[in-house]
Amino acid sequence: MRKHSAPKIYIPGLWRRLWDRLRGREVRVFESLDALPILVVRHPRTRRGAEAAESLRTAWMQLLTVMEPDPLEVYRDVLNALPAMVVVRFEERNAGGVLGHACPRGLESAATKRLQAETGLAVGEMDLAYELIAEWQPRPLASLASGAKAMDDGELRYRVSLLAVLFHELEHLAFPEREERQVRRRSDAFYEAALEAGARGVGSHYGLNA
Ligand SMILES: [Zn+2]
Repeated sequence: MRKHSAPKIYIPGLWRRLWDRLRGREVRVFESLDALPILVVRHPRTRRGAEAAESLRTAWMQLLTVMEPDPLEVYRDVLNALPAMVVVRFEERNAGGVLGHACPRGLESAATKRLQAETGLAVGEMDLAYELIAEWQPRPLASLASGAKAMDDGELRYRVSLLAVLFHELEHLAFPEREERQVRRRSDAFYEAALEAGARGVGSHYGLNA
């Protein structure tokens, strides 16, 4: 399939924010299992932004309810300590080149603080860079036990990556004092185990076309 290539525009800092405001943002709300916070996803009003939000929706609403390992088990302590609602600010990529960033308590954006005031709920906030996550490979897949056969479904791998980064940042939100190394070890292990399960065919019922 030919890729329709739009010119890539990179606008730093202030201009970027102004550009985002002009282009507008879409807000979507994803509610999954009771044990999980409600996600409020703000994404750029672009085709890629909408596609990435849709991938996250499917991952959050469906994939994580059937995947191996079960995130509710792996992240039980985190889920018990999270605010009821989490705002995910989806960006193509961010200035620091990081996949995600959990916003320290009290430093949330005005929109998030407003949401907190309006709902009366505790609301956390994070940034996720969906293009960087799409390009991200924490380790060469060849290093996985399943080797070259590692999950070759790009969309499923993308959803697993989104969840791995999301849960990594949720752990930072729940336990701000916890060391990066420790948080990273768990999210890497979760990511690799999920890819291996996917490669073993556990993913055949992951509802890929849903
Ligand atoms: Zn981290």
